[in-house]
Amino acid sequence: MKAVQFSEHGDRDVIDYGEFPDPEPGRGEVLVDVKAGALNHLDIWTRKGLPGIDLEMPHIPGSDAAGVVRDVGEGVTRFEEGDHVAVSAGVSCGECEFCRHGEESQCVRFSIIGEHQRGVHSELAAVPQDNLVPVPDHVDWEVAGSASLVFQTAWRMLLTQGELGPSESVLVLGASGGVGHAAVQIADHVGAEVYATASSEEKLRYAEECGADHVINYEETDFADEIREHTGRRGVDMVVDHIGAATWHDSLKSLAKGGRVVTCGATTGGRPETDINRIFWNQLKVIGSTMATPGEVDDVLELVWDGTFEPRIRETLPMSEAARAHEMIEDREGFGKVVVRPDSEL
Ligand SMILES: [Zn+2]
Repeated sequence: MKAVQFSEHGDRDVIDYGEFPDPEPGRGEVLVDVKAGALNHLDIWTRKGLPGIDLEMPHIPGSDAAGVVRDVGEGVTRFEEGDHVAVSAGVSCGECEFCRHGEESQCVRFSIIGEHQRGVHSELAAVPQDNLVPVPDHVDWEVAGSASLVFQTAWRMLLTQGELGPSESVLVLGASGGVGHAAVQIADHVGAEVYATASSEEKLRYAEECGADHVINYEETDFADEIREHTGRRGVDMVVDHIGAATWHDSLKSLAKGGRVVTCGATTGGRPETDINRIFWNQLKVIGSTMATPGEVDDVLELVWDGTFEPRIRETLPMSEAARAHEMIEDREGFGKVVVRPDSEL
């Protein structure tokens, strides 16, 4: 088969699309004929190399993909040949105290397909059946292959961890990115009042299309000042911050008393200065979130398949242009998801 791959960490020029041995479905695994798969910021970090993660090289990147079941390994009960499936990338052990309490994304041995182990941006992928969800036949491959990681992340972060309610206000930073555009749609669906930031007029219009009630261009104005002015100095009940160091201080400043900031990432760096005085005096909560449980994944993807939520497709490229796809993510060009498909599918 052909696969996107790299043999060393580095810049985009380490990425190659070439021959790779066909995977065999092991016990409990499903062999998927991959039709499409989106990129995530995670793919950039993984390519550059993350401390403490020692990958088997060459590594195939990619945490999101969808395709058709070609074959099933021994013990597979949930899928058969011809089924349409999407990958849900969180891998849990099923045995630790957190897994036994149904908190799979808190598993002590938690890992992510594409980040800690071989990914799915290849013509074929052998995936554990626990990491696949059924996809109805009417759903486009681009949609099926781009929703899972960002929508499950945003769903758990806003609802399970953040407990966002319909009478509340929420500020979503970076609303034109993958997690951001999912968070805006979910917050709007809940009925919350949604503020969103982005860096250009075009991206702000897009955030409005996703359901934002108020938009702020963070290149032109200080978003914390804007929020405080707009809310009569009160602030919002929740800030969704996956940006990190560049926004952390202003995220805390944007919160109402008793408000909470939820985070699932730190693309600009994970070690900002933080204002502890503001945290205790305003009784703020800092809440982390990673991926989701299988039940949460089922819940949110059901709403993608029925059209309630829509992953916006920025661009679809052949896998041979995976380096260009990485460039689009790194340079924050456009909005929504960048998808790659095997060259043989185009
Ligand atoms: Zn576990």
